[in-house]
Amino acid sequence: MIFRAKWVYPVEGSAIENGAVVAEGGKIVEVGPFAALRGATGELVDLGDTVLLPGFVNAHTHLDLSDLHGQVPPQGLFIPWLSALMQKRSAAAPDETSTAEAVRRGIEESLACGVTAIGDVTTTPDWTRPMLARSHLRSVSFGEVIAIGQRRSMLERRLAAALAAEWAAPRLRVGVSPHAPYTIEPAALRRCAEAAREIGAPVCMHLLETAQEERFAVAGDGDFREFLMRMKVWDDRVDTPGVDPVTWLEREGLLSSKTLLAHVNYVTDAQLAVLAEHGPSVAYCPRTHAAFGHPPHRFREMLARGINVCIGTDSLASNPSLSVLEELRHVRRAYPDISAETLVRLGTLAGTKALGLDDQIGALMPRRWADLVAVPAPPGKKAVLDRILDGASAPTATYIAGKRVYPSEPVAAG
Ligand SMILES: [Zn+2]
Repeated sequence: MIFRAKWVYPVEGSAIENGAVVAEGGKIVEVGPFAALRGATGELVDLGDTVLLPGFVNAHTHLDLSDLHGQVPPQGLFIPWLSALMQKRSAAAPDETSTAEAVRRGIEESLACGVTAIGDVTTTPDWTRPMLARSHLRSVSFGEVIAIGQRRSMLERRLAAALAAEWAAPRLRVGVSPHAPYTIEPAALRRCAEAAREIGAPVCMHLLETAQEERFAVAGDGDFREFLMRMKVWDDRVDTPGVDPVTWLEREGLLSSKTLLAHVNYVTDAQLAVLAEHGPSVAYCPRTHAAFGHPPHRFREMLARGINVCIGTDSLASNPSLSVLEELRHVRRAYPDISAETLVRLGTLAGTKALGLDDQIGALMPRRWADLVAVPAPPGKKAVLDRILDGASAPTATYIAGKRVYPSEPVAAG
């Protein structure tokens, strides 16, 4: 197949005017100017006046919360929001059918937004993964483990569900997500790290999302302790790390390039230095970050220190959509000095690196999958990437392994 567009932006390399991407068996074999293709044959897909990019990567989301869209709007404070979310969720008593429907909705929206790979955290892996396994979307599905004030057998059950090998599918990989420093005890985190290491599974953890988290980790008190008391999971036997969250993860060997840290909204200079030394990725969730009124995210300093920063939307419970492109446009408005190339890299290649997929997707080059998105380029004199980031156009087509996944094929009548 030959995909032709007014512009092709391969991420590695500069934009190609009147460009083309040639794919065979779902993988890219050639990228370059359409006029210079070396005898490529096959179906021609003309994407017109668009920019053809690698599919966007949403490195941090929770598709099984998609049914809570708009039901618990963030109003500035994280802990009250989390309490409201948990109440809503337990009142809704999600079952297999409602969860599958929420995930289906999330997958459809992702594809329509040009997202072709996600890092998804799920509390219901047995209900979420069948949907992911059946879909075209690429995913790393992190089974969430919450283990505080509980028996060891419960932890082992959650861990087994999180890392169940039966779900490994061509486009689905399993990982584990020890939820956050205020919901996992030290022995449980150690066990998660051990289990992930045994099978080489990736790890995702919410880290330094709020200002109160460090105090809880260090001293076991403050707002999170009160929150846990209200949730009736706190008693005096609950163990806390006794050190700040970054030191804790470092001690447990959990700061490698196989770890993805979600948020990292409150980080000190010393912690930044530790992160830079070890190489975990950081998923910055721009619009969710803004909705909770956190101080400015230090992602630029992270980038300057060589930390792999990627983009997440977080769930629809806290975010208006699952569009990585809209996250990039939000960052663009807040930080107009950052180059369009850097932003697009955060939303594509950096996400694939965070998910361990950077040898398969993330840039348009031979031997990688033809996961593509076509975004209309508004007219103007600026460079084409600036025009799409400053504009508001939605993707017109999304392809995974060369197959069109958005818009989906119309069902033939009769
Ligand atoms: Zn999250």
